[in-house]
Amino acid sequence: MPIVSLAGVTKSYPAAGRAAEPVTAVEDVTLDIEQGDVFGIIGYSGAGKSTLVRLINALEPASGGSIHVDGTDITALGERELRRVRSGIGMIFQQFNLFSSKTVAANVAYPLKLAGWSRADIAARVAELLAFVGLSERARAYPDQLSGGQKQRVGIARALATRPRILLADEATSALDPQTTHEVLDLLGRVNREQGVTIVIITHEMDVIQTIATKVAVMEKGRVIEQGDVFEVFSRPRHPASQRFVGTVIKGVPSPAEAAALRERHAGRLVTFSFRDGDSSQSQVLLDLAQAGLEFELVYGGINDIRGRAFGHLTLAIRGADAAIDAALASIGRHATATEIEGAR
Ligand code: ADP
Repeated sequence: MPIVSLAGVTKSYPAAGRAAEPVTAVEDVTLDIEQGDVFGIIGYSGAGKSTLVRLINALEPASGGSIHVDGTDITALGERELRRVRSGIGMIFQQFNLFSSKTVAANVAYPLKLAGWSRADIAARVAELLAFVGLSERARAYPDQLSGGQKQRVGIARALATRPRILLADEATSALDPQTTHEVLDLLGRVNREQGVTIVIITHEMDVIQTIATKVAVMEKGRVIEQGDVFEVFSRPRHPASQRFVGTVIKGVPSPAEAAALRERHAGRLVTFSFRDGDSSQSQVLLDLAQAGLEFELVYGGINDIRGRAFGHLTLAIRGADAAIDAALASIGRHATATEIEGAR
């Protein structure tokens, strides 16, 4: 049974001003998050990611559809039962949301106090959590005395204090530099592997998904337009909108501006070929072009690595008779993905 299951979930906000339209922030979203997943939710700003997380966290009611957390339909619960559901879900934030007037230890202790733990149990649990996140030495420090990465590690310790089974991370590394991002992602990976916590991670950063996620859902305009295994979705996005999104975050696909610059510099037709680990088609593509008597030049490319599996894109400027190029592309299309960059030749 999935640990989080959404079926036909919609969330609308009423019109704010007289001229304003109601906003549908989440529309007809259906997805399952399995126990133990690191589930990434990606998409541009305004796509509905944060709203989706607030629905899972029961911080806001859905306008339609059903949301099951740990087997319970939370759309049917009253406030008291919702508090119990929320206590099984930890949350970390972009701006850390620590109490600046409390020490590191007091920040981590806070949810345990709320939950009515004894002083001795709180002290033992806080020590254990600070050791886990590598901050035992900073227990008496205040948030202002910590680096961004340390603050987020306190946030993680606090979120895990009451042993939730789910951790929601909303742009949790977006305020951090790349090095610190990797340290925090390593820690989240340990939370997932060593403590069996299911992680739902919202981000607009490809790096985050690439490093840690096992599954991913791509959102646009409130809808989940594509979801599945991270390698599948990123190496072969099916929906045009996810192709656009993925194209902007992975290496090797020229942006429209780069494509225009390539066209200025190179004669011929520009075609981007996509390859994946284990494909035998890379050399075959080049062989097919050579055997068709076509001239070509490598003009753009890049390789991406998703947890040890590679995929890449290679753009060639191909010169020759149009009919010969069309025939070669048709034949190559049987074993590799080829996308021609449109535009004046
Ligand atoms: P993301 O997290 O992907 O940036 P959000 O979930 O924050 O997207 O927002 C999705 C859409 O819903 C946006 O158009 C946003 O303006 C709107 N929205 C979010 N929260 C509210 C709210 N409380 N009231 C009205 N509109 C909202």
